[in-house]
Amino acid sequence: MSNPPVFRFAPSPNGELHLGHAYSALVTDHLARQQRGRFLLRIEDVDGGRARDRFVEQIYDDLAWLGLRWEMPVWKQSDHMQNYAKALDKLKQLDVLYPCFASRREITEHELTKSMPQTPDGYPIYPGIYRDYSPSKAATRIAAGEPHTLRLNMKKAVALALQKTPEISFRERQKDGSYQLVAVSPLEWGDMVLARREMPTSYNLAVVVDDALQGITHVTRGEDLYFATSMQRLLQILLELPQPLYFHHPLLVDMTGRKLSKSDDETSLKTIRATGISAAELCLQLPPLIL
Ligand code: GLU
Repeated sequence: MSNPPVFRFAPSPNGELHLGHAYSALVTDHLARQQRGRFLLRIEDVDGGRARDRFVEQIYDDLAWLGLRWEMPVWKQSDHMQNYAKALDKLKQLDVLYPCFASRREITEHELTKSMPQTPDGYPIYPGIYRDYSPSKAATRIAAGEPHTLRLNMKKAVALALQKTPEISFRERQKDGSYQLVAVSPLEWGDMVLARREMPTSYNLAVVVDDALQGITHVTRGEDLYFATSMQRLLQILLELPQPLYFHHPLLVDMTGRKLSKSDDETSLKTIRATGISAAELCLQLPPLIL
């Protein structure tokens, strides 16, 4: 018998879960059940500056209230930092990383930044200030303890990936349940930061490492992460990791058509639960789980 498919819900504990998270978790659980698959929960808490234990507890509580059950133990990214360090080392060996000493502010104010196109999430692409910096000067500054980030040399990384595979693409679930191959270009992200002192991995790196280590076969998440998939597929190719199938479901929006946000108290599950509504009643108000 073949192994069952493996699904995951992967919230970041940096705020209250809102209705959109509830919907995402329910869609994932629904697909897992439909395909007799496993449902895993992953706590994405690598951002030590924002992640809070009380939000982790609240996530468990909210998901249990929704009627969801997940396998134990829960995978917490902060317990697996050594795996992200190993992946980073592998990228260093491939010679696709370089140190950047510019602060966020220096980058924002840099003359070149002003004329750069935007990344899919709306920031100017990093203009490559330290891309061709002397490796020996960089080594001296690092040895002196100067803060820096590690950036992916995107053009080099894409060229290397294209030596390993004819195109960078992923399989996305369609409305009829079939999967369609989508070709993507991670070049649109520019030289992304993969590690910084206060956060020695990035979201994209930790996600691809964990999806592989947890044996995830199906990534189900909101449409807002659709464009991140190009970056994640690039890292999977470079790190020689298996590729899951993807489903980026539509996002829930508020009355004004705006995407729900963690800072919006009214749509937080905690606030909604406090009104006395039952999980079953709430589910009836959500869009169908599969559109
Ligand atoms: N942790 C991410 C979030 O809460 C989701 C990551 C993913 O599903 O790939 O937005």
